[in-house]
Amino acid sequence: MSEIINVSAIAKVEKEKIRKRIESFRSNGKATPTLATVLVGEDPGSVYYMDMQKKVLESLGGTMLKLTLTEDVSEQELLSTIGDLNNDDKVHGIMILFPLPKHIDEHKVAMKISPSKDIDGVNPMNIGLLASTSGGIAPCTPSSVVEILKDTLGELKGKHAVIIGRSNIVGKPLIQLLLREHMTVTVCHSRTRDLKEVARSGEVLISAMGRPKMITEEYVGDGAVVIDVGTSELDGKITGDCDLESVMKKASLVTKVPGGVGTLTTTILMRTLVDLYEKSES
Ligand code: NAP
Repeated sequence: MSEIINVSAIAKVEKEKIRKRIESFRSNGKATPTLATVLVGEDPGSVYYMDMQKKVLESLGGTMLKLTLTEDVSEQELLSTIGDLNNDDKVHGIMILFPLPKHIDEHKVAMKISPSKDIDGVNPMNIGLLASTSGGIAPCTPSSVVEILKDTLGELKGKHAVIIGRSNIVGKPLIQLLLREHMTVTVCHSRTRDLKEVARSGEVLISAMGRPKMITEEYVGDGAVVIDVGTSELDGKITGDCDLESVMKKASLVTKVPGGVGTLTTTILMRTLVDLYEKSES
């Protein structure tokens, strides 16, 4: 019998811990953890994400500064805005909503964010630290996957995880995070041969492709735990990479979309903010 993982319950417990941490700063007369989120243009998905971040952070007792720049803002102006936020002691985390307009070099923008305020781990310094040390800042989506696995399976050591997807924001940081948990990690992508067979070999299968309903029971080993990161639109509905009904014939535990990984990411982002805040205070 397959079960759907209750990710909202995991998020609820995590939120409570964050709320208590922020409360203790306040009761000790300290400043409030503050996130600055910068939106360039009016992409509806980014506007929604920004408003959701604000709602979640304020419900936890934190503060969010929303900075909205017009679509035609120059690269120099954006870099200078980030420079100001880097120098502002009242700001503990900085998030730039990607994608940016074509005339702005996203790599330069990521490099400009101070590594100590880089809440979603996009600065190459943090990417390198994540890969080569026990430090660095990981993006919130792969961190959420790890949180779900730990909550669901407890000990991850020695288990075999197969990740489908090797993007900078999900697949690659997830490799590092799972290695830290001492898992055996296999990574697949669009050129992987015998994908179904490789995928079936995982005790844990994580799909981060953005290919709606591509993962069926043929990709799932008996009793595997399946985490679906994919978020695509199909026939006007948000749809994951998994064909849930089919996957549930083989998997022991699965996440659904919507209501899965995405339910936890904003909470994990806020946990990172509080971690950065504590480091800045120490
Ligand atoms: P991406 O940059 O497009 O990367 C997709 C990855 O999947 C690539 O590595 C690609 O391989 C691989 N892939 C695509 N089609 C494949 C196929 N048929 N067989 C095997 N591998 C295939 O996407 P992303 O930014 O990582 O996002 C992945 C998905 O996660 C998207 O649906 C996105 O919306 C979702 N997402 C969700 C959250 C959340 O909070 N839930 C957050 C971030 C992203 P190649 O490298 O060979 O091209």
